[in-house]
Amino acid sequence: MSAAPILQVDGLSKSFRGLRAISEVSFAIEAGSITSIIGPNGAGKSTLFNLITGYLAPTAGDVRFRDRRITGMATNRIAELGVARAFQIARPFRDLSVFENVRIGALFGKAGSRDVEATTRRGMELAAIAHLADQPANTLTVGQLRHLEVARAIATRADLLLADEPCAGLNPTETAAMIEVLRRIRASGVTIVLVEHDMPSVMEVSDRLLVLDAGAMIADGPPHEVAGDPRVIAAYLGSPDD
Ligand code: ADP
Ligand code: MG
Repeated sequence: MSAAPILQVDGLSKSFRGLRAISEVSFAIEAGSITSIIGPNGAGKSTLFNLITGYLAPTAGDVRFRDRRITGMATNRIAELGVARAFQIARPFRDLSVFENVRIGALFGKAGSRDVEATTRRGMELAAIAHLADQPANTLTVGQLRHLEVARAIATRADLLLADEPCAGLNPTETAAMIEVLRRIRASGVTIVLVEHDMPSVMEVSDRLLVLDAGAMIADGPPHEVAGDPRVIAAYLGSPDD
């Protein structure tokens, strides 16, 4: 890696009453990249995002964003530094318009955001929902709600976006639209870490894959290399002694 990583995770562990949900996980994310984290259900992917964004405190280990240690910092503090999370289950303010929902991201994001209106518009445009600006959130389809969640996250002016299964439950057309949005966000200068199950999309959009299985990182590398790794295949298909 040439430049300093934008995110560095070192020896991160999290136990829930004896269950090792994340076990000594280490990796670094290069600025400007799209990295996907894959792994079976329960592998620890959302827990890893919770640890990075301050929703959970780790049992051990460190998280660094740029030159700062953010381990155990408050979620709003981490967001103000420029780390945004698009949640797996979005909970928009259903009676507010798309514009007003995205505006919340612009209001509570990275410190120093001043032009809330322009930042809100830009978030909607990047997420391809500018045409829905005046619609109440409760009139949106599942696919449009996912775009709204991404728009809200990006309107914080984040430099790093953690997107947790943005394509879950979307049809192939909607999935392709979301992948296009992620590409556009990356092109705008935002580094992306993606948790996603749809393998064709993951293979197409990612510079790199990290594979979690039962809380441990079992593979890390270019998508085609990782997808052919016997340990990765076993984790997905189950080994004979499982
Ligand atoms: P993934 O996102 O990869 O499907 P999760 O990170 O949601 O997996 O969960 C990893 C493991 O940790 C699972 O066994 C899950 O039941 C457990 N877990 C997650 N969050 C909690 C929590 N707050 N309390 C107790 N157990 C949890
Ligand atoms: Mg999850």
